[in-house]
Amino acid sequence: MFCIYCGTEIPDHSKFCLECGKPVPIKIQLIKTEPPAEDILKKQVSIYWPEGYMPCNSCTIIDIRIDGQPVSSVLYGQSMAYSIPVGEHQFIFSVGINPYRYVFNLDIQNHTIITLKFDQTGTRMSMIPESL
Ligand SMILES: [Zn+2]
Repeated sequence: MFCIYCGTEIPDHSKFCLECGKPVPIKIQLIKTEPPAEDILKKQVSIYWPEGYMPCNSCTIIDIRIDGQPVSSVLYGQSMAYSIPVGEHQFIFSVGINPYRYVFNLDIQNHTIITLKFDQTGTRMSMIPESL
C-alpha cells in the first residue's frame, strides 16, 4: 500500500510510514489493493497564475499546451486543475505572442502545483513546480 501523506510504498499493515513517519489510518491499513490503473497513470496538477506583473495590459489569459495538445487556459490570478499522465511532458504557455516552453517530469508521488510567474518587466516567465 501507499502512504496517504507522501505516497511512498510501504508494507501492508504498517502502522507508520517508513519514509515520512506519519501514522497510517486504521481503515487504510485494512484496504490492501492497488489503486485502479487510472490513478496510477494520471496525476492531478494545478496550474496557477498568481497576481503580479503581467506581460501586457490586456494579457489576462495564458493558453496551455501539453505535449503539443491544447489543454485549456488559465486566467490571471486563478488556477486550473488537470489530470495529466505521469511522466515527462513538454508544457507550452502562450501569452500574447510569446510562447514559453518547459519540460517537466511529473512523478507519481504528490499533487503538484505549477506556479507561473513573470519577472518585474513582465517579459520573462518562470514555471515553478512544487509538490505537496
Ligand atoms: Zn509517508
